[in-house]
Amino acid sequence: MTPLADAPEPAATLPIIIPRAEHGISRKQIDEETLKVMYRLHRNGYKAYLVGGGVRDLLLGRRPKDFDVGTDATPDQVKSLFRNCFLVGRRFRLAHVRFGRDKVVEVATFRRKAEAGDLPENPEDHFAFQENVFGTPREDAFRRDFTINALFYDIESFSIIDYVGGLEDLAARRLRVIGNPLERFTEDPVRMLRALEFCARLEFSLDDEVRQGIYSCAQLIAEAAPARIREELLGLSRHAVIGAVLRNAAAMGLLEPLLGGYQGDEDSFALLERLDRRTRESGPPPEPFLLAALYLSRFLRACPPSREAPVTEVVRLAGLVLAPHCGYFSIARAISHQARELLLGVYRLARGRRQRGERRLLTHPMTPWSLELLACWSEVTGDYRDLVSNWRDALSGKEAPAKAPADAAPKRRRRPRRRKPRGDKQPSA
Ligand code: ATP
Ligand code: MG
Repeated sequence: MTPLADAPEPAATLPIIIPRAEHGISRKQIDEETLKVMYRLHRNGYKAYLVGGGVRDLLLGRRPKDFDVGTDATPDQVKSLFRNCFLVGRRFRLAHVRFGRDKVVEVATFRRKAEAGDLPENPEDHFAFQENVFGTPREDAFRRDFTINALFYDIESFSIIDYVGGLEDLAARRLRVIGNPLERFTEDPVRMLRALEFCARLEFSLDDEVRQGIYSCAQLIAEAAPARIREELLGLSRHAVIGAVLRNAAAMGLLEPLLGGYQGDEDSFALLERLDRRTRESGPPPEPFLLAALYLSRFLRACPPSREAPVTEVVRLAGLVLAPHCGYFSIARAISHQARELLLGVYRLARGRRQRGERRLLTHPMTPWSLELLACWSEVTGDYRDLVSNWRDALSGKEAPAKAPADAAPKRRRRPRRRKPRGDKQPSA
């Protein structure tokens, strides 16, 4: 596949170009390695643009997570320019230029959406092919999801190039799909979730057409690959917006098809929002914690209210509540097991102090996590407040040793067991 010749643009579709003097992005904000890659591409006669989320975040005065480079060089041409370059990706081929042990600059060739006539005969090859049809910068902008994600920063002129009206939407703090939302959501339903994610992360409003598009297409998300949805969910948690996004998804009918029938309730969304606050303060929780939080409300409702069920029964209930999710998303056994342990721990803590097995509970490695989950739950529901602080004292070793209740019968002292003298050995004198 070779890049298409960069045909002259029809006047009506010329991009808006903002010269260096009229925008705030400076090269100082771009990391050294990314700049090196861009300069080398440019010196060798190729286009080199900063693309996607990096440009968006710089224009919003936010720190980009990473920088991606777009170019008209093919992956092989990129590879020939850098000794430390590896071609990766099954879905679409990308060039990774490595610096040292951890730094990678991702370089993608401009692509376009494949038309029906372009496709190879074998339908199994369609998907990979569609993702790999090289195109012009303009086509590359139009294949992207949202206008604010399709801005380019050109290293040749230091200008910003906007083919899709992204600058206007950035200024209005509005999320708009490129093209017709119904078409773009049908093409890739995960974009609906991404729309809610960017609105929450950037505090943007959802354009009316996008909102209507989500209402119309929500069911389609049930067809998306579970592995991709799982990754997106972890991303939402990392960005501390999973509570807000799932709440909005529920309001728009997107949540049930997204999570295989999960309905969520006010307490669950409030708990996830509480977790997001925790993420902003101390980093994202591990996946089992997130799973346990998602299903805690349902689990507590499933447990008998007397809290007297035998532990084996509660383990079974926790397993039943988590099973559909873990099965659908192929969650590894170790992770679902930990989520189950966490729920069980919450149950045991919620039963109160001085129950059988308390000493083991206090030393169990999952108990601090279960207590943290119960504490978050307690904050959002108002339940178990005293109990949480009581358990905290017990776990931190602050509390006085438990006294025997006054009316309890005095314990019988165990007599030291007498050793039977071994026949052949005399005790030494
Ligand atoms: P961040 O990395 O901060 O989450 P981002 O905008 O860089 O945000 P990525 O998921 O890294 O998001 O994707 C990089 C770019 O690829 C996006 O900015 C967008 O232009 C394009 N993109 C990603 N996913 C899609 C999609 N499903 N459909 C169309 N374009 C997409
Ligand atoms: Mg990115």
